[in-house]
Amino acid sequence: MSFIGYKNGKLHMENVPLEQIAEKHGTPVYCYSAEQLADNFHTYQKAMRGITSDDKFTICYACKANSNQAIIRLLGRMGAGADVVSYGEMYRAFKAGIKAKKMVFAGVGKNEAELLKAIKNDILQINVESEPEMNLIAAIAHKESKQATIAIRVNPDVDAKTHAKITTGTSENKFGIDIKAAPALYAKAKSLPGLSPTGVAVHIGSQLTDLAPFEEAFKRVAELVTTLRAQGNTINTVDLGGGVGITYKDETPPDITKYAALIRDIILPLNVHVILEPGRSIAGNAGVLLTRLMYIKEGQAKKFLIVDAAMNDMMRPSMYDAYHPILPCNEAPPKAEKVQYDVVGPVCESSDTFITDGTFPKMEPGALLSIMASGAYGASMSSNYNSRPLLPEVLVSDDQFDLIRKGQKIEDVIAADIIPEWLT
Ligand SMILES: *Cc1c(COP(=O)(O)O)cnc(C)c1O
Repeated sequence: MSFIGYKNGKLHMENVPLEQIAEKHGTPVYCYSAEQLADNFHTYQKAMRGITSDDKFTICYACKANSNQAIIRLLGRMGAGADVVSYGEMYRAFKAGIKAKKMVFAGVGKNEAELLKAIKNDILQINVESEPEMNLIAAIAHKESKQATIAIRVNPDVDAKTHAKITTGTSENKFGIDIKAAPALYAKAKSLPGLSPTGVAVHIGSQLTDLAPFEEAFKRVAELVTTLRAQGNTINTVDLGGGVGITYKDETPPDITKYAALIRDIILPLNVHVILEPGRSIAGNAGVLLTRLMYIKEGQAKKFLIVDAAMNDMMRPSMYDAYHPILPCNEAPPKAEKVQYDVVGPVCESSDTFITDGTFPKMEPGALLSIMASGAYGASMSSNYNSRPLLPEVLVSDDQFDLIRKGQKIEDVIAADIIPEWLT
């Protein structure tokens, strides 16, 4: 179901014409649909309820996809936990009302202060990515007289067949521990004070559009659980990560019911608690980035639409060659003249390009455009490059919309700079 589309010639998010948001908050501006977020989360929840009971799974929303507190809160109220990758995200998730017992902490480079926070807060699980990290967790937990519940994130050496920069499950990646080395590490974990090594975690990549790599990874994880148990380990949790893809252009994303059926067939026979960590498939299609067309530049070989959003606001096209459809907020008549344009931002980099050789209805400066499927890895990856302020974010619910993050002012952007005395 989609909550973003044209009504009476105007692009709407739920029952709000996007134009109204641009008028009130200016451009560029991120807009998210509460109904779409809820619907996406509900799809996972329903699929999991279809295969098991509520106490047997936790859906930990991957906050890095979109870490706005209002969004974490909305999902938390529906029963979501949080997958966090820094203390910053953990802090946001706590502030947004997520309970420690629904929080998992992942990432290859968690530092001592971050691990201490996780251990002191008794979070659900810390996903360990290396032996030295495991040793540090044990040392901290022991000192604090705590038992840290850990899962070792294994690398199943499965190619997710997605973009190289978002593949994480092959043996060449920095993520996880080679699945073959895992049994020895669990044996060590069991011998260390302060650790409860009761989970196995896996996450093979992002934007997967095929279920086959998931199936392969789940099978390898299930085998590992059996091996570990045979060695006397207590394994009661399996964390299957995130990675389910969405439609940007013409991809057909996996059916979540079929994804759940894989879990039912491969993982549930192990009688474990299942953790899922979806990010993109919750937030991605729930958001758009509204941008204003400033200039049309007619080059020798090309026509450029110069818009006011840029790669610092939305990095995916320049970083991953990602394609995001761009729709005019005023629907073009069906017979409108078609023109080829490149859509580019104001930043001084050639890679500041949203679309190359796109076909659009003939455009006029001042047009409002919507960069679609920008809800995940959009705002959360944005930066101040070119001293551009971070953007405001708006949450739409039915016919109302609320500011959920103030846009920065340029004063905010430069406020942390310090001029040494000798330069004044
Ligand atoms: C990024 C990440 C996720 C979320 O991935 P999506 O593709 O957004 O679903 C989940 N788990 C881990 C460990 C991650 O690094």
